[in-house]
Amino acid sequence: MRDFSQNHDWLSINTATVRKQHGTEVPLDRIIDQCAERGIRAISPWRDQVAAVGLDKVARQLKAHGIGLSGYCRGGFFPAPDAVGLKAALDDNRRAIDEAKTLNAPCLVLVVGALPGALDGKAVYTDIARARSEVRDGIAASLDYAREVGMPLAIEPLHPMQAADRACINTLEHALDVCDELDPGNTGMLGVALDIYHVWWDPKLQQQIARAGKERLLAYHVCDWLTPTRDLLSDRGMMGDGVVELKKIRGWVEAAGFDGFSEVEIFSVLDWWQRDGGEVLDTCIARHRQCV
Ligand code: ZN
Repeated sequence: MRDFSQNHDWLSINTATVRKQHGTEVPLDRIIDQCAERGIRAISPWRDQVAAVGLDKVARQLKAHGIGLSGYCRGGFFPAPDAVGLKAALDDNRRAIDEAKTLNAPCLVLVVGALPGALDGKAVYTDIARARSEVRDGIAASLDYAREVGMPLAIEPLHPMQAADRACINTLEHALDVCDELDPGNTGMLGVALDIYHVWWDPKLQQQIARAGKERLLAYHVCDWLTPTRDLLSDRGMMGDGVVELKKIRGWVEAAGFDGFSEVEIFSVLDWWQRDGGEVLDTCIARHRQCV
């Protein structure tokens, strides 16, 4: 297992972690500068953040700083009430793949979607099996294009508490079943983004990480699970402040062959978004060395 205690060479920052400080949106170009000042070598930005600054401008800034991506957030949200909606989702994923390519991302992260409309408070239908079928078809169609341009897709299984509104793929096992069905040759073009916040509780986690292997493990996201958790979406903990055995899980992913970045992804309305971004980044660096 790699020794992270001496440096932060393998730290990446998911830019949601420092985007809403004190309730104000921090522009991505500012976040990139803050990361560069600290010798952080990789980030994972969100599409809306990139769009707000400008895709080409972000690409140039990253290149100037020598900062790479550990992933691009995000594609997915495939289910829809009708054919028009399904087609619109595929078109949007195609654009996301193109953007990921421009930014030289190692993968496009997929939050696959669930019951259409649920995120806005009213599900258009309640058949989760239908949603899963639409997700499968959406990934299959997107994978064709992803292969054409050479952009791997990383399915992110979300905690079952988000099965209705954000993702109806909820375990690593389920994500890998989809991978094996759609990419039986294990070509490296379809895999998973393993986010410990969503999967740490899973009794099959170690077994399924071993099953995934290097080819399927495309991204690794870290934070911590707080007790109590006060908000299901936006109360993620800083590494070391919760109950997740981070080093043990990293040992499993590295034993499976993963040798990429540990990407810190913390949505924290109540705590870390109430602090200055620089303090948050400095804490991420320190905890990456101590706890990840
Ligand atoms: Zn994640």
